[in-house]
Amino acid sequence: MLCDVCKRNRNGITWFGSAAGTLAVCRKCAPDIDQGLQQSLTELSARLSRCHSLTSVLMEILELALRITDADKGNIQLLDASGALQIRAQTGFSTQFLEFFNRVATDDDSACAAALAQRTTIVVEDVERSPIFVGTPALAVMLNAGVRAVQSTPMFDRAGSLVGIFSTQYASPRKISAYELKLVDLLARRAVEFIDEFQY
Ligand SMILES: [Zn+2]
Repeated sequence: MLCDVCKRNRNGITWFGSAAGTLAVCRKCAPDIDQGLQQSLTELSARLSRCHSLTSVLMEILELALRITDADKGNIQLLDASGALQIRAQTGFSTQFLEFFNRVATDDDSACAAALAQRTTIVVEDVERSPIFVGTPALAVMLNAGVRAVQSTPMFDRAGSLVGIFSTQYASPRKISAYELKLVDLLARRAVEFIDEFQY
């Protein structure tokens, strides 16, 4: 098993965040994330146990995702009955962005639509250079919203069905590390547990 932080070491792996999914971390990297992340995940569990709505659960998870991945904005979309994505939690976005992306289908031009269509994580390091956005109306909406980089991670339930997309956005063009994506995936899986609990 390869360390999720450095992507180099295979020895001395310990597992973090057992309640929220798992993160493999080598002995060398453990001191970096040990206290901060472990404490954040523990606090998250306590906060989630006090939530009375799916929206508040998704907001708690989103806010932690922004904090631990240094993202500037984020949103969680869930699939509606028609198979389109609807924004169910967001932080940092203007009305223009929210109205434009209020309902997203697989054939729309966006990272979340691509993640929905391809059922895999989509990373756009610079929207101005991405074939997903260049030449589409979505590019101006992203730039107006102050978004230059974005990742969209699909959320799957236990049966393997896609239930939503977890996106984080950045104000500057940047690479999004495998470690950051792993943290988002871990939190996305945590969110899915609560989607089942509140929706059905
Ligand atoms: Zn490591």
